[in-house]
Amino acid sequence: MSLPSDCLFCQFVSGALATEIVGQNRNAIAFRDINPQAPLHVLVIPREHYADVAALALANPEALADVVSLAQEVAMDEADGEYRLIFNSGPSAGQSVFHVHGHVIGGTRLGWSPA
Ligand code: AMP
Ligand code: ZN
Repeated sequence: MSLPSDCLFCQFVSGALATEIVGQNRNAIAFRDINPQAPLHVLVIPREHYADVAALALANPEALADVVSLAQEVAMDEADGEYRLIFNSGPSAGQSVFHVHGHVIGGTRLGWSPA
């Protein structure tokens, strides 16, 4: 697991690297995925570094609730409140950045072929 000082998403939180922030609350920020897979593709992350959603849930359930409510808020603003929220957990599930992030996907009728 990368240390927070090496972590791309921690650098978005701190402002050391720029990204387009589309929403935020006390414990979470939302920004656009650089390689969108749907008309709406935003990442929601806790401000604190945790490797995956299970680690976040154990250590800081309030921050997880803020991540989920921010996802809902972005989807309300940009996709009439209908969306899929995906947490890839582990490399074989497609996780490539080890700062927990939910993919907020929507803005079109979604297919279902994850495997
Ligand atoms: P995952 O593969 O589930 O870990 O998701 C990581 C996501 O981060 C991918 O969808 C990438 O497109 C996205 N990503 C990688 N680098 C950036 C970046 N600099 N800005 C925004 N999104 C990024
Ligand atoms: Zn991080």
